[in-house]
Parts: sequence; structure tokens; C-alpha cells
Amino acid sequence: MDRSSHVFVAGHRGLVGSAILRRLRAEGFERVLTRPRGELDLTDGAAVQRFFGEERPEYVFLAAARVGGIAANASCPADFIRDNLLIQTHVIDAAWRHGARKLLFLGSSCIYPRLAPQPIREEHLLTGPLEPTNQAYAVAKIAGIEMCRAYREQRGLAAVSLMPTNLYGPGDSFEPQRSHVLPALIRRFEEARRGGLPEVAVWGTGAPLREFLHVDDLADAAVFLMRRYDGDGIINVGSGDEVSIKALVGMVADAVGYQGSVAWDTTKPDGTPRKRLDLTKLHGLGWRRQIPLREGLVSTVAWFREHHLGAE
Ligand code: GDP
Repeated sequence: MDRSSHVFVAGHRGLVGSAILRRLRAEGFERVLTRPRGELDLTDGAAVQRFFGEERPEYVFLAAARVGGIAANASCPADFIRDNLLIQTHVIDAAWRHGARKLLFLGSSCIYPRLAPQPIREEHLLTGPLEPTNQAYAVAKIAGIEMCRAYREQRGLAAVSLMPTNLYGPGDSFEPQRSHVLPALIRRFEEARRGGLPEVAVWGTGAPLREFLHVDDLADAAVFLMRRYDGDGIINVGSGDEVSIKALVGMVADAVGYQGSVAWDTTKPDGTPRKRLDLTKLHGLGWRRQIPLREGLVSTVAWFREHHLGAE
């Protein structure tokens, strides 16, 4: 893949897709294809086949997905399994049918068993029961991984699946009921600071551990792996920056400048206790993250202030 390649970024308005698009543009790619949802509905198989038939992209970043935090996953499992199965099935099949040279599928660390040994190695896939709060999403992503493997084996499509850890950064959803923990906390602490509130509610016990990767690092890894990796095994993409939700709350309060107290709402679920990724395979290829969590947090708070609240 070079700057003159014909590249399709599916899901270019999302957190991951928009970061991949920024990364390709910064590198000077001249022929990057995107389609807003209003023009191309990726859950519509006929429309996807038509689009691939007309455009014939050479390289496909499959970053289109229905995603959400723990509450959205737990309350709308039908939407998560349906949309993700449809999108990935149509895009992977159309990429093969219309001669794409390579496809990169974005999975998620929630595909691993809830109680997988830590840090989680790629071979732990399908070795135990999943975390129930996002099982529908995880099963859809596992189907996508298997589809990539099967299309590689039977049809010769160069399809690669990468499993990112929890992502954050510019372009994330900050909507309280749907979002992941980091944007949810940034919004809540910032609103509390502005409103002079003495206390902020946070979900769960604070005990779960999560690893966070800035989405610009993920985009860098995705472009790197599109160029350098062509194995049939999945590959973890993480940062090694693991913190408890309790420690994360302290970091977000610092980054935002909030000085009130925290109330733990233990009626809300903790989700999986830990999902740290083993990065031996990725590091062995020569890739490491550039943006440490503290630094990424500060820039994400600045982005949120600029895009969601207006300047002070
Ligand atoms: P997960 O990594 O798939 O479990 O997804 P999330 O990012 O939604 O949640 C991560 C952890 O943060 C869970 O233990 C949640 O209980 C906890 N958490 C604490 N406060 C919040 C919040 O306001 N929103 C979300 N989404 N999670 C929160």
C-alpha cells in the first residue's frame, strides 16, 4: 500500500475510521474513498456489492461498526449483533468478490473469554465463556474474525484481524448513556466543574482494570499492519497503559481540574474484571504506542471542550 493506492475506509465518521483517515491524509494518500451512511448503508448487501463493483478499492480498512459502552451493549444486544454481522459480512464478501488486495478488520478485546489468563494472548480466543454485558457484540466480532480466516483459507483474500484494547481520543462519542467510560467521565467531571457540583457519580466499584490506547496510535498501528502483517492469526493492539477505573477517575479529575468528591454507583455493572492484552506479537513486529495515557487524556479533554462545549 502506497500513497497512490485506492483505499476504502469503511466507517470514516467513527472514532477509529476518522483517525485512520486523518493518518492516511497526513501521509499524502491521494485516492482515499469514503461514503457517509446516507449514501451507502453498509447493512444493505446489494448496495455494498454495487459500491465495490464500481469503485474496486485495493485496500479496505473495515472500521464500520455499531459500538457503545457497557450500558448500550447491555440494553441493545439485538442492534449490536444484527448491525455488526451485516456490515462485516457484506464488506468482507464484497472485498473478495471485487478483487481487493487486502482487508483489515477491526475486532475488539471483548472477544476474549471473561476470565482469560492475563495478559491475554491471541490464542486465548474461543477458550471460555464471554463477558455477558457485551456478548452479542463479541459474538458478532468473533464471526468477523472467523470470516476473515475462512476467506483467507478458501478464497485467498488477504484479510487480517486486529484486536484493539479500549480506545479513546478525538471523535469519540461523549453521549452519557451510550459512551465508553473515558468520554463519559470527561463529560461528567467537566460538567460538574463548570456547574460547581460537590460530587460526581461513577458506575461500578472502581475495581475493574482497563488498558487504554489513543486512537491516533491505533490508526498508526492499523496502517503499519496493513503494510507489514499478513498472517492468518489475529493480532492484539494495545498500549500496556493499564489502570483501575478508580485510578482513571483520579486522572480524569486532574486533567479536567475538578476538585469535588466521587460517589460509586454500585447498582451499575463492573463488566469484565480485567482485559489486558499481551503485546508480544505486535512488539515483535516492531510497533509500540507513542502517546502515554496521561498525555492523551489532556489532549482529549481539550478536544471535548472545543467540540462539545464551546470555548470558556
Ligand atoms: P467495557 O470496557 O466494555 O466494560 O466498557 P466501558 O468503557 O463502558 O466500561 C468500563 C468500566 O468503566 C466498567 O467497569 C464500568 O462500570 C466503568 N464505568 C464507570 N463509570 C462509567 C460511566 O459513566 N460510563 C461507562 N460506560 N462506564 C463507566
